[in-house]
Amino acid sequence: MPNTAALLARREKLLGKNMSTFYLDPVHIVKGEGVWLWDADGKRYLDCYNNVPHVGHCHPRVVEAIARQASTLNTHTRYPHEGILDYVERLTATFDDSLDTAILTCTGSEANDVALRMAQALTGKTGVIATDHTYHGNTTAVSQLSTRMPPVGGFGGHVRHVPAPDGYRPLGGVPGEAFAAAWAAALEEAIASLEASEFGFSALIIDPFFANEGFPDLPEGFLPKAAAIVRKAGGLLICDEVQPGFGRTGSHMWGHQRAGIVPDIVTLGKPMGNGHPIGGVVANSETLNAFRKAFRYFNTFGGNPVSCAAGMAVLDVLEDEGLVENARIVGEYAQTGLRSLAEKHDLIGNVRGSGLFFGCELVLDRQTKEPASEIATRVINEMRERGVLMGKLGIHQNATKIRPPMPFSKANADLMLSTLDDVLAAL
Ligand code: PMP
Repeated sequence: MPNTAALLARREKLLGKNMSTFYLDPVHIVKGEGVWLWDADGKRYLDCYNNVPHVGHCHPRVVEAIARQASTLNTHTRYPHEGILDYVERLTATFDDSLDTAILTCTGSEANDVALRMAQALTGKTGVIATDHTYHGNTTAVSQLSTRMPPVGGFGGHVRHVPAPDGYRPLGGVPGEAFAAAWAAALEEAIASLEASEFGFSALIIDPFFANEGFPDLPEGFLPKAAAIVRKAGGLLICDEVQPGFGRTGSHMWGHQRAGIVPDIVTLGKPMGNGHPIGGVVANSETLNAFRKAFRYFNTFGGNPVSCAAGMAVLDVLEDEGLVENARIVGEYAQTGLRSLAEKHDLIGNVRGSGLFFGCELVLDRQTKEPASEIATRVINEMRERGVLMGKLGIHQNATKIRPPMPFSKANADLMLSTLDDVLAAL
């Protein structure tokens, strides 16, 4: 087995420099099962980070579904195939009745790219609004939305950014209603600016859980208010469910359902095929048909029979193993545990999240809320050394990101919490 340093050198030579790895000492994983990963030396890690193997690493039912379909037929998507239709029927049944058709893609980036073009086709306008500190993917159009990796040459004139909502440090300084009103005013301003430009306003694209922005706690009615503003201006609301989707937040199948809104377009990715590359765009047929008429869209691999078999198996396992309910129960348990840790460790400024997507914001001072970004880096690296994998994110990169596979148990949560307790105590 090659040592990790040799592997990294080879990786850099073959795949190029600047490919990111997690952790100062990258983990060379060779095997996964359920919520567990093993490195090349046989050391076991608790995976508290990964939402791609949504129903657990290498879930036997997903593996079997992929193998069965791959050994029967796989081809491009120009042939009619029952498996694809059965899957889209089953998937769209989990949405509001108005969201009844889908285009399948290979990635979340592609799905968001298609969504932007759908909004253009329907409104005849090109202006788009996103939050700063977001991430919606890596195509040329979609990378225009992320201020975290500004595009060469700057943002196009058709893009406006509104501040990422932050319930801990609310826009305008006052929480609750006033914060929601301040954010709504920022959105109205961005819409007015686009409408006054040559581009016009076509869509607001958001992750309804604002995962990459740090999954803020938001006041009641926050997103319904924003949705009403978008509709009044004749724009479309796109919800990116790549992170909160497929029951992750425990209370609902989709993040937008939890937020109390019905989007015009929903985009899907990461957990959809448990690691097999499948993404999607769900919309009503009018929107989808307008898009197909304008762009004659075709995707060679997106939603092929094998991908749909993987997607169907994920939905089966979610249902049969009660994993959305598990996310609710274990998520609440783990957040209660984090709140107990906050009583011992002043570094924890705020605990938040929903279901199996939660974490705490680390601060140097609870009064000033000064972000402890460097300490957050140390914490996740120390956790890794002790066999627990988690990440960090948020506006200040100081929020721990805990987002494990959905079969995560209370015993798993206990291990994560006791390890975090030890790490914080040893700082
Ligand atoms: N949307 C969100 C919210 C994401 O977090 C990501 C990936 N991290 C994407 C879209 C892009 O998905 P993909 O990497 O599959 O293109």
